[in-house]
Formats: sequence, structure tokens, C-alpha cells
Amino acid sequence: ENLWGLQDCAETIYEFADEAQKEKYIPRVCAGETMSMDLTEPDAGSDLQSVMLKASQKEDGSWVLNGVKRFITNGDSDIHLVLARSEEGTKDGRGLSMFIYDKRNGGVNVRRIENKMGIKGSPTCELVYKDAPAELVGSRKLGLIKYVMALMNGARLGIAAQSVGISEHAYREALDYAKERKQFGKAIIEFPAVAEILSLMKAKLDASRTLLYACSRFVDMYKIYDDIAKERKLEVEEKKEAKFYSRLADAFTPLAKGMTSEFCNQNAYDCIQIHGGSGFMKDYACEQIYRDARITSIYEGTTQLQVVAAIRHVTTGTYLDWIKGEAEKQVAAEDEAVKATLNFMTQQYIDAVEAVTGVNDPKFLDFMARRLVEMAGYIVMGYLMLDDTQRDSSFRKSLHVFVNYGKAEVAKHADFIGNFRPEEISDYLYTE
Ligand SMILES: Cc1cc2nc3c(=O)[nH]c(=O)nc-3n(C[C@H](O)[C@H](O)[C@H](O)COP(=O)(O)OP(=O)(O)OC[C@H]3O[C@@H](n4cnc5c(N)ncnc54)[C@H](O)[C@@H]3O)c2cc1C
Repeated sequence: ENLWGLQDCAETIYEFADEAQKEKYIPRVCAGETMSMDLTEPDAGSDLQSVMLKASQKEDGSWVLNGVKRFITNGDSDIHLVLARSEEGTKDGRGLSMFIYDKRNGGVNVRRIENKMGIKGSPTCELVYKDAPAELVGSRKLGLIKYVMALMNGARLGIAAQSVGISEHAYREALDYAKERKQFGKAIIEFPAVAEILSLMKAKLDASRTLLYACSRFVDMYKIYDDIAKERKLEVEEKKEAKFYSRLADAFTPLAKGMTSEFCNQNAYDCIQIHGGSGFMKDYACEQIYRDARITSIYEGTTQLQVVAAIRHVTTGTYLDWIKGEAEKQVAAEDEAVKATLNFMTQQYIDAVEAVTGVNDPKFLDFMARRLVEMAGYIVMGYLMLDDTQRDSSFRKSLHVFVNYGKAEVAKHADFIGNFRPEEISDYLYTE
């Protein structure tokens, strides 16, 4: 937890800071100094466009920061990346710039360390900036639009990895306990009701990991091209491929963060269930897993905000294009039935997208967005697991369990969307 975000912060300096800043800060980070990303404020959480921490430029051209940030992981770090309003009179994201604050210069006070439900290994701080000296990173006004977007995409992938780790821990604890605990004269793992929970935990874990790896690969691919482009002009084909992977990284990052963090919470819940009453006690690891899992679907953008980022890839067809590519791949004869199921789910997804976009009402799309994104998620994860199974048959069991589960979830969403009359939306919206 104490290394949380460190790599993403360091990468942001590497990518966007000037040479003098890189020379100054990167060796310090490599030598073990800590970093934090100071974005959130009391009135600016999901909506970072309304960040108000003020950056003022002095006559000599240097900058000072004034205001409050909250919920900052490792807020007492040595080097901070800070999102602040540099353009007086502005109210949206175009008035925000990115700054580096160096703790050695003073001016920032840790006013409070939060008392949290979980991830107690990392201090989450409220910070008060009082004429804190800071250096501008990159160009003015690109703070949110460019630098924070890049920073957050990296950090979101990090949370997906954290979610896979917690899911794995939850599964192992549950499996060990289910083998040891005896009731009615036998180990509880022998009861189908318990075994089914374990199988589903494993399937969600395997599905989460394969989505994380696929997404990481897309990110690696476009970043490699970014790096090459700094040294020489890309060939036409290379440019095309760079664009292709950049789009996939953009689409898969919120999908990975959203799906893996929700699965990790579900696995933590099931881990406690398998422990019965003991799971409710602080004596077992599952109690901590349950508390630690909870943050994954909140920070670096809640699941709802991942849906906001992912939905345009539903409407523009990024997920569907990728799915169609997967559907063309050959699979082993014994996996043809699973592939047919995934094809069937894809058709339900296509119909659901058409039904929702056909209404042509942004509010209706917002209302159905999570269902559509989840449908895409189940199909994408199913195809990734099918692909894994072609390389390693030990995934086949998880593939079957996951696709059975995903099929039922997709059918549930298809049924809801297919039978929903747009005017019913008023039953769900609160206007007061
Ligand atoms: C332990 C911890 C560590 C953190 N570390 C950091 C850090 O290091 N740096 C940092 O900058 N921040 C950090 N945060 C802040 C974190 O990123 C925010 O808490 C998170 O983005 C949500 O913002 P919020 O808390 O203001 O909730 P809000 O934005 O108030 O959201 C409340 C609810 O409204 C929903 N909602 C809001 N807007 C929309 C929308 N447009 N559509 C649909 N639903 C919406 C949300 O999904 C949520 O359910 C941390 C938070 C915690 C708890």
C-alpha cells in the first residue's frame, strides 16, 4: 500500500516533466523517496473538473499553491503531483494544470489522517497547502485533460491488479478453510453448495486475471510505440497499430478496473460466507480481506465512473470489434459449444445496444450503461478464457463455470433491457 501509485506518479514525471525536473526527481524516486497524487478535494471527487486548489504565479514566474486536498494516499510523501487551478476565473477542466510539490520546500500540513475501514497500512491524509512552492509540469491547462488522464489510466490498471491479488487471497483462504472445516461428518467442501461457491470464486478470479493481462498488454503495446515515436517517425503501418492498441487500452482499462474490483468484492463476501460465523470474527484473514476489498471499487474512480468511461466503447463498437476478431479464431473441437454460447451472448449484446441507442436519449443510455458495459465484460472475459484454454487445458473448468455464469448474467440484462419501456425510467429517477 505504501508503494501505491508510486510507479504511476514516477511515470508521469518521466513522460511529461522537463529535462531539469526529470534529472532532479527521478533519481530521488529511484533512491526510495515516496510520491503521492493529490487530486481529490472535499468538493471535487468523481468530478475532478471542479478542483479549486489555487495555483498563483509570482512576479518571478514561480508558483505557489493554496487550498485543501483530501483522501490523499501517502499524503506525507516526499514528492507530490498536484492538480490545481492555474487559470483564474475558470471553472472547468481547461483551467487546471499539474504541479510538482517538493516536501523539502515546506508549505503543506497534514491536517488529518483518516480512520478507515480497511487498507490501514497506508495513511490517507487531508492536506492544507499554504503558499506552498511548486513547479509547473508540462504545459498550463493540460493538467486534467492530458496528464491526470494518463496518470489515472495507469493507476486504474494498478487497482485492477490489486483486485486480482485480493481475489486470489480470498479464494485461497476460502479453499483452505473449506477443506479443513468438518460438519455433518465431512469436510464442507464436499457439499455442492460450498463447492459451487468456490468454483465461481475461482472462475471470477481467472477471468479477472486474464482481463488484467490482456489490458496490460494493450497498454504496453501503445506505450512501446509512444517511446519509439520519440526517437523516430513511425511507419504508416506502425502508426495504425499504435492507434489500434491505444483505443483498446482506453476501452479495456475501465472495463478491467470495473469488473475486477466488483469480482474482488464478491469473492471477499463469499470468502466470509464459507467461513461461516468464524468469518465474522477478526481471527481469520477473511475479515481483513473483506474490508480491504471494499476500496477497490471506489478509489481511482468508482465503478459508476468506470462505466462512464467505458460506455462510449459500447456505442462506438470498440468491444464488439474486438469480440468479432476473437470469434474468428479456431478453437479445439471440445470448446466449440462454449464458443457457440459466447456467440449467442454476443447477439444478445448487439440487440441490447441497438435497443438502448435506438431510444436516442442520453439519460436512457446513462441508465442502461452499466448493464451494457457488464454484458460486454462477460463476453470479453469469456473469450479471453477460451483463448487461455487453447494454450492450457487447466483453464477449461473455470471457462465452463464462468461462461455459464456470464450467460445467465447477460440473459438477465438482455431481459431487463428488452422488456423495459423508456417511460418506466421515471420510476427510477429522483428529482427532489
Ligand atoms: C482510502 C482512499 C484513498 C484515496 N487515495 C487518493 C489519492 O491518493 N489521491 C487522490 O487524489 N484521491 C484519493 N482518493 C479519493 C478517491 O479517488 C475518491 O474518493 C473517489 O474518486 C470518489 O470520489 P468521492 O469520494 O468524492 O465520491 P463522490 O464523487 O461524491 O461520489 C459519490 C457517489 O456518487 C457516484 N457518482 C458521482 N458522480 C457520478 C456520475 N457522473 N455518474 C454516476 N455516478 C456518480 C459515485 O459513483 C459514488 O457512488 C482516495 C480515497 C480513499 C477512500
